Amino acid sequence: MTDQIRPQPGIMDIALYVGGAGQVAGMTDAIKLSANENPFGPSDRAREAYQRAGLQLHRYPVTDHARLRTAIGEVHGIDPERIVCGTGSDEILLLLCQAYAGPGDEVIHTRHGFLLYPIAARAVGATPVCVGERDRTVDVDAILAAVTERTRIVFVANPNNPTGTMIGEGEVRRLAEALPATALLVLDGAYAEYVEGFDGGAGLVERHANVVMTRTFSKIYGLGGLRIGWGYAAREIVDVLNRIRNPFNLSNTQLEVAEAAVHDQVHVKRCRAENARLRAWLAEALAENGVPSDTSTANFILARFADETEAAACDAFLQANGLIVRRVAGYGLPHCLRITVGDEAACRRVAHAIGRFKEQT
Ligand SMILES: *Cc1c(COP(=O)(O)O)cnc(C)c1O
Repeated sequence: MTDQIRPQPGIMDIALYVGGAGQVAGMTDAIKLSANENPFGPSDRAREAYQRAGLQLHRYPVTDHARLRTAIGEVHGIDPERIVCGTGSDEILLLLCQAYAGPGDEVIHTRHGFLLYPIAARAVGATPVCVGERDRTVDVDAILAAVTERTRIVFVANPNNPTGTMIGEGEVRRLAEALPATALLVLDGAYAEYVEGFDGGAGLVERHANVVMTRTFSKIYGLGGLRIGWGYAAREIVDVLNRIRNPFNLSNTQLEVAEAAVHDQVHVKRCRAENARLRAWLAEALAENGVPSDTSTANFILARFADETEAAACDAFLQANGLIVRRVAGYGLPHCLRITVGDEAACRRVAHAIGRFKEQT
């Protein structure tokens, strides 16, 4: 029995990540509001770059991502030498765990934080430590109380998925300043572009050697299918991640499309404005039907129901009406449904359907 092949400790404790469903059995035209995708898709410039990239599929990509990093640096006003690119920001989160945590180490995440954090911690044999929130919002004092000498990484998504809430700059700064220098603070900015004027924590990265910001092309850039993300950190950290990542982690196609996408900030601005308008309308329409939600700062709403039974029944009703939303019981929110802000027609349809559901119950 001892000479059997076995995975490393921790790996079999991972609960498999399952993405938001895309289909309802027997239905071809269901509307997918389960994965926080941008209903407007990517910029035309990104689509054109995708076509062009198809002409050089026989070429290996570069390994240093220099042009994409320069483009990101220009747009965000940050140092390209401190940027590392990955296949989605998920890869950056995993690389951070691989590089900085291992057996015996603790990785902190919040109660309703992104599910990939405990997965990434377990994948490297570290111990995920779950910290309570206050009213579905990150609680800095609770995080600081959970920090021990074994804490290596603290993950905070701001805005957070699936709650949609965020904490202010002062609170994030307080957390960064109070953390020991031996622990990394990873600020996951997957939804940062949805918050007008928000730097995602870039300023804190510049002031603290142990703060990392991660960003993605999957959400507002509408490129979830292509898998591109990046991190911003001290040069020492970027150097570490570059040593362990796959040198060819990003294809020519990913690099070219992301570069074109980041240069189209008009598209980003338009998507942000549409999202804000439709999100406010949807939250209001749900509230009028007796379905409250916290003020969301992202591209989805966390709709709260009386209990798990009602949430499940509403989910089934929506599916029967061709609308796919996200159950979030796995996030410790069994009485909630996470609904991505779609285009205007989708928002109207989901609001109308929830109204009818509430009427019949
Ligand atoms: C969607 C999401 C990401 C982004 O993942 P990618 O790998 O870049 O597609 C990261 N963090 C959170 C909290 C998310 O919701």
